[in-house]
Amino acid sequence: MQTGDTKPLRQSLGIRLVLVTLGFCFVFTLLTVGVRTYSAWNEAWSAMDADLSLLEKVYRQTLSKAIWDMDRDSLHTHVESTAQVAVVGRITLKIHSQNRTPEIFERSAEGWQASSLAPTRRLDLVYEPFPGGTESVGELTLMGDERVLWARLRGEVKNIVITQLLQSLLLAGLIMLMFSRTVTVHVQHIAQHLGRLTPDTMRQTLRLVRDPRHHDELTLLESGVNELQGKLADHLAQLGQYEKELGAHRDHLADMVLERTGELESLTEAQQLVLGLSNRLIHAPHESFGACQQACLSEVAQRLGANHALWLVPAKDHSAFRVFYDWRPENSDTALQHPLPVDAWTQVPARLAREELLFFFSQAEMGRSLSPQEAALFSVQPVGACALALLHSDGEDYGVLFIGKPLGQGEWPPEDRALLAMTAQLLLHSVRHQSQLINILATQEALRAANRQLEVLSRHDPLTGLSNRRHFDEIKEDEFQRALRSGKPLSLLICDIDYFKAFNDHYGHATGDQCLRAVAHAMNAAIARSGDALARIGGEEFAILLPATSEAAAMRVAERVRLAVAELHIAHEASKAGATVTITIGLAQLRFGRITHFDALFEAADQALYRAKGNGRNRVESSIASAPQSVN
Ligand code: GH3
Ligand code: MG
Ligand code: MG
Repeated sequence: MQTGDTKPLRQSLGIRLVLVTLGFCFVFTLLTVGVRTYSAWNEAWSAMDADLSLLEKVYRQTLSKAIWDMDRDSLHTHVESTAQVAVVGRITLKIHSQNRTPEIFERSAEGWQASSLAPTRRLDLVYEPFPGGTESVGELTLMGDERVLWARLRGEVKNIVITQLLQSLLLAGLIMLMFSRTVTVHVQHIAQHLGRLTPDTMRQTLRLVRDPRHHDELTLLESGVNELQGKLADHLAQLGQYEKELGAHRDHLADMVLERTGELESLTEAQQLVLGLSNRLIHAPHESFGACQQACLSEVAQRLGANHALWLVPAKDHSAFRVFYDWRPENSDTALQHPLPVDAWTQVPARLAREELLFFFSQAEMGRSLSPQEAALFSVQPVGACALALLHSDGEDYGVLFIGKPLGQGEWPPEDRALLAMTAQLLLHSVRHQSQLINILATQEALRAANRQLEVLSRHDPLTGLSNRRHFDEIKEDEFQRALRSGKPLSLLICDIDYFKAFNDHYGHATGDQCLRAVAHAMNAAIARSGDALARIGGEEFAILLPATSEAAAMRVAERVRLAVAELHIAHEASKAGATVTITIGLAQLRFGRITHFDALFEAADQALYRAKGNGRNRVESSIASAPQSVN
C-alpha cells in the first residue's frame, strides 16, 4: 500500500496493533501464570496438608493403641503403610517410655530430601486406658514430599500457560480482525480517496462502505474530510476566480501599456513634426510666410489622413472671412462645388465659446452646433470627424481652421487631437507673429522715411531746398581735407544779393522769399558739375564750393552764376546796382602752405566779396589781386 507521499509503509497499523496486543498478552500471561502458579502452589500445599491431616486422623487411634499394647508388628505395618502414601515424604514415630530413651520408628520415601517447602504435621499420640484417663504414649511427625508438590504444580502450570496463550492469541486475532474490518479498511479507503484527489475532483465526496447506522469516529472523520474538501474546493474556485480576474487585469494592463506606448510614440512623432514646421516658419522670409503656413497645414492634414482642410482669414474690413487656403488630397477629385459663402463665417467664432481654441465634432454634432449655412461650408465633400480651430488671441481674429476626416474613420484619437492642438497653436502664433512683423516692418519703414525726411530737413534749407549752413560745414571740411590730401585745387565762391534789404522793404518779405527761391534755383542750374556744392549759408548769402577747380575755372563758374541771376530779370527798383536783382561774388582759392584750415579760405573769399561790394557790386572779385571784372 502506498500513502499520499508515495513512501511504502514499513508497518501497517493493524500489525502494530497486533504486536502491541501480543506484547500485552505476553506480559498479561506472565503475570497471570505467576499469580495462578502461586495459587496452585498454595492449593497443592493445602491439599498435601489436608492429606497428611487425614492420615493423622486415620492412624491416631490405631497407632496409640498399638503403642499402648506394645504391638510392634502392628506399629511397623502402620508406619509402612503410611509411608506408602504418595504425599508422605517421611514418617517419624517417637514412643515415650519412662526412664528410658524414647524409641523412634522412621520411614522415608525413596529419594526424599528434607525441605522447608512441604508441610509438616506433628501429633501427640494419647491413649485412654479407661474412661476419663489419658496417657501420652508418643509423637507422630508426618513430613510432606516436596516432589509431589512440584509434580502437581508442573501439571497445573502447563495448563495455565496453554490456556493463557490460547486466550492471548485468540484475543489478538480477534482484535486484528475487528480492527481490520472496522478501521484499517476504511483508513486505507480514505487514504486512497485523498491520494486520488486533484483540484478538479475536489468536489467528489468520501463515502465509507459500511453500515450507515454506525456513528463513530470514522463518521466524524468522513464528514470532516468532506467538509475540508468542500472548503478546499471553494477556496480553489475562489483562487481560480482571482486568477481569472488577475489574468484579465494583466491583459488589460498590457493592452493599456501598448496603447499608451503607441500614443506616446505618435505624440513624439507629432511633436517632432510640429517642431520641424515651427523651425520652417521661424526661418521663412516674411514675404513667403503665407506659402509656408499653407505648406504646414497641408503637411499636418496629410499626416492626419484628412480629406479636407480649410483656412479662412478675416477680410481687411473684418466684415467677412475669405478663403486663405483650401486643401484637398492630391488624388481627390472633388473640386469646390460652388463658391463658399464666406459671409456666413462671420458669425461662427461668435457662436462658439471664444475661450476655446479647438473643437472636435462628428458630422452630426457639427450639424447641431453650427447653423445650416455654416455647416454647408464643410459639406462640399463628405467628412466624418472634424475639428474647428478659432485662431483668436487678445481680441484679434486671425481666422478659422477646419480639418475633416473621410467618413467612417472614427473619432480623432488623443495623439491626433494633440497634433491638431499643437498645429492650431503654431499657426495662431505664426499669424500673430506675421501680423506683428507686418506692423513692425511698416513702423520701421515709416521711421526710416521720417528719418530720411529729418535728414533732408536737417541738411537743407526749407525755403530754397539748397544745402544749409550745417550741411555746408560738413561738406567743406571733407572737401578741404580731400584737397589737402590730393593736392588738387579747391575754390570757394561767396555770393550775396545786392541791396536785398531794400528789395524786401520795397516789395515785401514774401516777394523777397520768392526772389530768394528764384535766385537759388538759377544759381543751382548754373553749376554744371555734380561735385560742386551750393549752399545757403545766410539770409541772402550763398556759398559754392568747387573741388578740383582752378582759380580761372572758378572765375568762369562765378561769372556764369552771376549772369544766371542777372538773366532772371527780377525787377529791383530800389537797387543802386541796376534795375534788376544782381549778385556780387567773392572768390578764393586754396593756396597750399599758406592756408592751413578752411576758415582762412572762407575769410579770403569773404574779403574778396567785401571788396567787390565796395567796388560797385554785381561783380566777381578774387582774393588774389587781380583786376576786378564787371559785366555792366
Ligand atoms: P548789400 O548790397 O550791401 O548786400 O546790401 P543788403 O541790403 O543786401 O545787405 P544787408 O545785410 O543789409 O541786408 C540783407 C537783407 O536780407 C536783410 C534781410 O531783410 C534780408 N533777408 C535775409 N534773409 C531773408 C529771407 O529769408 N527772406 C527775405 N525776404 N529777406 C531776407
Ligand atoms: Mg548779405
Ligand atoms: Mg546783400
